[in-house]
Amino acid sequence: MTHRVYNFSAGPAVLPEEVLKKAASEMLDYEGCGMSVMELSHRSSIYQKIIDDAEAGIRKLMEIPSNYKVLFLQGGASLQFLMVPANLAKTKKADYVNSGEWSGKAIKEAKKYGVDVKVVADSNPDNNTYFPKYKAEDVRSDADYLHITSNNTIYGTKNMVLPKVNIPIVSDMSSNIMSEKINVSDYGVIYAGAQKNIGPAGVVIVIIREDLIGLVSGLPTMLDYKTHSEKGSMFNTPPTYGVYIAKLVFDHMIANGGIEYYEALNRKKAAIVYEAIDNSKLFKAHVQNKEDRSLMNIPFFSQSEEINAKFLKEAAAEGLVTLKGHRSIGGMRASIYNAMPIEGCQKLADFIKKFDKANS
Ligand SMILES: *Cc1c(COP(=O)(O)O)cnc(C)c1O
Repeated sequence: MTHRVYNFSAGPAVLPEEVLKKAASEMLDYEGCGMSVMELSHRSSIYQKIIDDAEAGIRKLMEIPSNYKVLFLQGGASLQFLMVPANLAKTKKADYVNSGEWSGKAIKEAKKYGVDVKVVADSNPDNNTYFPKYKAEDVRSDADYLHITSNNTIYGTKNMVLPKVNIPIVSDMSSNIMSEKINVSDYGVIYAGAQKNIGPAGVVIVIIREDLIGLVSGLPTMLDYKTHSEKGSMFNTPPTYGVYIAKLVFDHMIANGGIEYYEALNRKKAAIVYEAIDNSKLFKAHVQNKEDRSLMNIPFFSQSEEINAKFLKEAAAEGLVTLKGHRSIGGMRASIYNAMPIEGCQKLADFIKKFDKANS
């Protein structure tokens, strides 16, 4: 019997079981070619179809307009912290919302690149317990772009409401891409590391409006979006297997009913977990502002390190694993990405209630 747990890891994270089974069944012989996908040349027509299908899948799911390119790159979201300023900051001026550690890293990287960064809102002074508020007037109209992190993986806040600004909006959606419906044309660039809501680590997806490609000349080849867009993400060897798993995830999502289905499910899942935390005596959610709560990452904690440790240990014994909070805030964190079944959230909520009763 295969042993499977409910894995609440923040990333790399849970993948749909059907996708893993399909990948396993195709491991030795992909569609009769006698090789695994890992062994295929990226220049072969059989691989070209895989990456084309992956692109078609995400285009369909997110309804990506035809004037946007979809790139499958490497280097994680962290390399995008550099590629975004390198490609978009043509006057070296950009505005950032600082809503947590990842935004902080993006800001740091832009500054290293010599960009004049204005932080338009910052929730760090309050330990990021809410998503920082700002107005369109706070954003410089002559900045090259506004950068936001739509979902804060560590602190569990999110905000999908965009200001009405006349400059391109760049969003790091690593931890909540495709978790709810968005309008891609409201953005200039969307990027996301695959290992949270899409597939295995090693792939980062960049969705970029065509007119934002090639603004800056003389960039190092690999850092230039133009290189990758002109070569269909095949300037060099792409992360072939990761793109294949992403394709299987997209196919699976489409078959289930697309993003609308996942958004409704994600709202239910987060409500189940939050209800158990909010109604407990022992535990408190890190984010109290209901409208700022992430649907994907739920940090919570008790006042006692001893109780936290006991909770983690007993939860693991029940098959509820990787619930330890990020080292910067401690406690617990339940990451409940698209692929986390609602049964996992229910089981966690039931366990929180049971543990609370027994220990308070
Ligand atoms: C995980 C994460 C990152 C970092 O991704 P890497 O692929 O490890 O570089 C960046 N931003 C957000 C919001 C994340 O959740």
